[in-house]
Amino acid sequence: THERMARSEMLAALGQFAAGVAHEIKNPLTSISLLVKLARLGKATPEDFEVLEKEIQRIDRIVKNFLDFARSGKEKLRFQRVDPEEILGEVTELIRPQAKKQKVTLVTHFEGLAPLETSPEALKQILLNLVLNALEAMPEGGELHLAATLQDGHLRLAVRDTGPGIPEEVRQRIFEPFFTTKPEGTGLGLAITYNLVQNLGGEIEIRSREGEGTEVEISLPIKNPEGPRG
Ligand code: ADP
Ligand code: MG
Repeated sequence: THERMARSEMLAALGQFAAGVAHEIKNPLTSISLLVKLARLGKATPEDFEVLEKEIQRIDRIVKNFLDFARSGKEKLRFQRVDPEEILGEVTELIRPQAKKQKVTLVTHFEGLAPLETSPEALKQILLNLVLNALEAMPEGGELHLAATLQDGHLRLAVRDTGPGIPEEVRQRIFEPFFTTKPEGTGLGLAITYNLVQNLGGEIEIRSREGEGTEVEISLPIKNPEGPRG
């Protein structure tokens, strides 16, 4: 049946993904094991311990992101009546301290919003992934615009930054799991975001001009076609 095929495809994708996680974790594990050997010999320097800590944090991030990815499946989402303004407010408050630290000005444009039927957890995670990427693109300050409006039966969200933009070769791979250009990145943020948006029945579009910044637009249906659940 259709359903069974979709399921086997999903399992294949998950298998590939798990192989990716294993691969990503192997590198930090190798250096952890070397550093522990050094420490046992009493030859580890304070810098070695710093590296050790960083590698452990890296594994922690990968595992946390992997769990987020595993939870992003449609069957795991709980659709309910959601006030988008509430979630936008929560996300804005969450990142405000970091934005201030980085001298990033937060600008919000919310207009004509009304409740929709979606997963509040998924919506929050989508927004967080996007605003975190925007902040990480502006270490020397800039502007982060968060816009939301209702249009044609959809909630339209836009996250725009004044960072360096995205080169074409990066853009092509941006949704790939584990693709990252950041030394501390996991490359899972946009892969998870893409999955969540699909599973909410929505669309995602990224526009970027090098040297000018990046805008990510999300469009989510106001009404879940399968009706409310849970
Ligand atoms: P991570 O943030 O861990 O690197 P993501 O999946 O969130 O993983 O993003 C993948 C890559 O896409 C980033 O490493 C970066 O190169 C690019 N990217 C994403 N958002 C932006 C942005 N707002 N500005 C510039 N580059 C971006
Ligand atoms: Mg990210």
